[in-house]
Amino acid sequence: MRPTPLPGPPPQGGRERRRAPQASAPAEAPANLTIDLDALVANWRALAARVAPAECSAVVKAEAYGTGLEPAVRALAKAGCRTFFVAHLAEGRQVRTVVPDATIYILGGLLPETEATHVHFALRPVLGSGEEIAQWRRLAATCDPCPAAIHIDTGMNRLGLSPDEARRLLTSDDGLRGFPVALLMSHFVASEEPEAPINAHQIELFEELRALRPEIPASLANSSGIFLPQRPYFDLVRPGYALYGGNPTPGAPNPMRGIVKLQARILQCRTVEAGETVGYGATWTAPDRRRLATIGTGYADGFLRSGSPTDATAGGQAFIAGSHTPFVGRISMDLIVIDVTGVTPEAKAGDLVELIGEHLPIDIVGRNAGSIGYEILTSLGRRYHRAYIGG
Ligand SMILES: *Cc1c(COP(=O)(O)O)cnc(C)c1O
Repeated sequence: MRPTPLPGPPPQGGRERRRAPQASAPAEAPANLTIDLDALVANWRALAARVAPAECSAVVKAEAYGTGLEPAVRALAKAGCRTFFVAHLAEGRQVRTVVPDATIYILGGLLPETEATHVHFALRPVLGSGEEIAQWRRLAATCDPCPAAIHIDTGMNRLGLSPDEARRLLTSDDGLRGFPVALLMSHFVASEEPEAPINAHQIELFEELRALRPEIPASLANSSGIFLPQRPYFDLVRPGYALYGGNPTPGAPNPMRGIVKLQARILQCRTVEAGETVGYGATWTAPDRRRLATIGTGYADGFLRSGSPTDATAGGQAFIAGSHTPFVGRISMDLIVIDVTGVTPEAKAGDLVELIGEHLPIDIVGRNAGSIGYEILTSLGRRYHRAYIGG
């Protein structure tokens, strides 16, 4: 028997050029990821309205938290977002190709010998040490203007000038000579816990330091910081997680709209008898006769192996036909087994189950995996069929 010829490859370089990350056709893909750009924009608008007249930027590092950098930036820019933050220089270059006129900050600071690239693509470094400031000043003598931000560490102890270094810099006559400081910023340690005393401490310290140079725009709040009772908006806020549907107010209802929907396809169903085990390591034993479904998503797709159920943790869940059903056995690279006993209508091969969405918001998915929604988003796999709606 002769094989049926498959359609040829798409023409190279023409209109059919695909956008990365590579997406397979929906019928071929064991899982479909849908990103709702209208919900993303609605989330940005809601935050912008809340903090006005302060400016609302967008943090789009790590592929816009796994949702896809280019579509996210394009939709946000169209909605009026003018300032973007990324972690790496390469990400900044990518944002620049989408938004020629936006302000783009590189949170990771200034690596040696990258000054010219920053200038070439009009990217602003977030300077976090005396050396970085000196390095930028040397370059800034050759360009006009070369604005940058200065990061003050008010408690995180990762990046930024210490409060003492910042005080010296901001009070010395020529500390800030050489280039325009477009932003003074710091970052919250525990803004998702409004009761944590460190929030008030960081706000007070930042207020004291920015008051030394009140003419410089200031920024402190990430997503959860925007919801603190002190309203520490200053001149600009820097939400990431909340834009992508994460709950910035854990423990209270989520004020944001979910933007990610992940549906995986059932590849096979089977019935196991009491005493049979499932998956690698035989970590789960059927307590009685059970109906199981195997779905085509695994840890290689970002479904963290830590979401496997154990004696101590319930693990992940899927939602099908109106019910939450538990993962059973270990999550493997490409497959997860779920217990669909009693689900009606009976689950069958080809059916789609929800792994992330209305019934399984990312905060819950993160918790079920012993992690946080941030890690779920930024781990979203590259093998899914990706579709963008709205924008
Ligand atoms: C990632 C990041 C943000 C965004 O934080 P979310 O909690 O996702 O809103 C803001 N500022 C800095 C410095 C960051 O690194």
